Amino acid sequence: MSAAAGRLTVLSGPSGVGKDSVIAAVRRRHPDVWLSVSVTTRPPRPGEVDGVEYHFVDQAGFDRMVEAGELLEHASYAGSSYGTPRRPVEQRLAEGKSALLQIDLNGARQIRERVPEARLVLLVPPSFDELARRLSGRGTEDTGRLHRRLDLARTELAAEDEFDEVIVNDEVEAAADRLVALLEI
Ligand code: 5GP
Repeated sequence: MSAAAGRLTVLSGPSGVGKDSVIAAVRRRHPDVWLSVSVTTRPPRPGEVDGVEYHFVDQAGFDRMVEAGELLEHASYAGSSYGTPRRPVEQRLAEGKSALLQIDLNGARQIRERVPEARLVLLVPPSFDELARRLSGRGTEDTGRLHRRLDLARTELAAEDEFDEVIVNDEVEAAADRLVALLEI
């Protein structure tokens, strides 16, 4: 990528840590922050709108995008497939604008390889117990899925050293302050 390219920031963190809330707080203050809309095979949750939170696709559609090289990175998470459409991100960066991805650990690792100058940020809970409490309180997962997500969370939190920055989400607005500082906006 050229020297004039914009900065790519990746925000990762275990399910339930509050990535969406922190990003929403950042965008309330800075509506121009551009967030990539991922593709997923996960069914929409109540209130989620196709093309807003995600592009919802079936597995065949997802596989076609992978084969066509349309995804900048992709990973399987808790039994569903997720990926970042390549073109919108590359377009932003080529225009010298910044882009933010909200993706899992495997995706962050792929971005590290493909876009070495990207900044990787890990959002962590104040404690593992607090994460478990938040995730079960959210009520979006059945017990099996909840346990799968908590197991994955342990792995994600253990990968802290792979990230450039770690933000503790003790309080959403404070975590958003720290992310804004990293985004240099
Ligand atoms: P959820 O199903 O709760 O929306 O997301 C589950 C996990 O998938 C979260 O950790 C989220 O960061 C991750 N995720 C969302 N979009 C992508 C993506 O495009 N690529 C990857 N690798 N992970 C994603």
